[in-house]
Amino acid sequence: MRTIKDTDLKGKTVLLRADFNVPLSEDMKITDDLRITSTIPTIRYILDAGASVILCSHLGRPKGKPDPAFTLAPVAERLEELLGEKVIFADDPEVTGAVTDEAAARLRAGEARVMLMQNTRYREEEEANDPDFSRRLASYADVFVLDAFGCAHRAHASTVGVSEFIPACGGLLLEKEVSYLKDRLQDPERPYTVIMGGAKVSDKIELINNLLKKADRLVIGGAMANTFLKAKGLNMGTSKVEEDKLPLALEILDNAKAAGVEVYLPTDLRCASEFSADAECVVCSADAVEDDMMALDIGPRTEKAYSDVIRSSATVVFNGPMGVFEFERFASGTRAVITAMAESEAVTVVGGGDSAAAVASFGMSEKMSHVSTGGGASLEMLEGKVLPGVAIME
Ligand code: AMP
Repeated sequence: MRTIKDTDLKGKTVLLRADFNVPLSEDMKITDDLRITSTIPTIRYILDAGASVILCSHLGRPKGKPDPAFTLAPVAERLEELLGEKVIFADDPEVTGAVTDEAAARLRAGEARVMLMQNTRYREEEEANDPDFSRRLASYADVFVLDAFGCAHRAHASTVGVSEFIPACGGLLLEKEVSYLKDRLQDPERPYTVIMGGAKVSDKIELINNLLKKADRLVIGGAMANTFLKAKGLNMGTSKVEEDKLPLALEILDNAKAAGVEVYLPTDLRCASEFSADAECVVCSADAVEDDMMALDIGPRTEKAYSDVIRSSATVVFNGPMGVFEFERFASGTRAVITAMAESEAVTVVGGGDSAAAVASFGMSEKMSHVSTGGGASLEMLEGKVLPGVAIME
């Protein structure tokens, strides 16, 4: 993949597509600036290489029309604080209209080195990947840099379309995501363990099938494990089970066996009589779930076994919690697995979305080799799909 490290940027103007889709409070304050701070190294790299930067991003869903509820103005302010230098904000309802033309002229004249365009989704041409809009975006710059990994699975004007008009390369964040979610998993350090959990088997079938091609061990927890246990003939009481996916679960177990992958399922469970944070937690053996009980977490014996598997692995991919980690009483299994990952010497990779939220909720994000910033994009990459935003640089 071509990155900014292989590109001569001196004296150039760079159009940098970032993911500044940050959460905002009702009074338009940024409540979590991780997406901005994750892009700062790329911005600094470009500035240090002697280029100026025009940033663009979407924010929320303004449905193709200008809407002050989705302005990037708070992002411009935060960027100025983080970079410690002036950021020209082109507050242009047309995104690529006269206001932006004038702001770009000020940038060229040397008034600042950084400029931020208005929300690309103010225009319906963005999601339609309209070539005229892409050409207008590209007209402000010499080079296009994509750093918005979370948007790389969408072929929009500002993520893919612009690359038709100016040379494209990946930013530092995009490079790190691709390195951990794809390159290193092609030829992983072994033993390579994949931990799968979360709500459903059906959501992750492509993911499991792709990871099985390379993995040595498949560790299953969460509600997903219930479906596997039931498929093996165990009573799961009132647990969340995908009844129509029982044959699929057996097929996955057969595929794993054929591929020589060791599969680990819970041998004990933490159960409750209702789905509630206050429900009493009862530990039982996986083959002794009562009719009126539901499994909400893996049990202590399973926790220990899974932690041992992780500690003896060289590569670990984690996707999906081991139980209802949002309830403190049923967070133990997920915490144990994440702690074992944090303490291990292995290369540890966390898929985005719920899994990243679980790791963050235990304060262990920093202890992982990589926590993906992309939800849907990380899933698609782990499924082995080609992301349009990555394909343009390969
Ligand atoms: P996913 O988005 O598929 O990764 O699923 C994450 C969700 O699965 C979390 O919100 C968990 O609360 C939920 N979950 C995990 N284990 C269980 C379980 N045993 N029963 C019900 N929900 C679960």
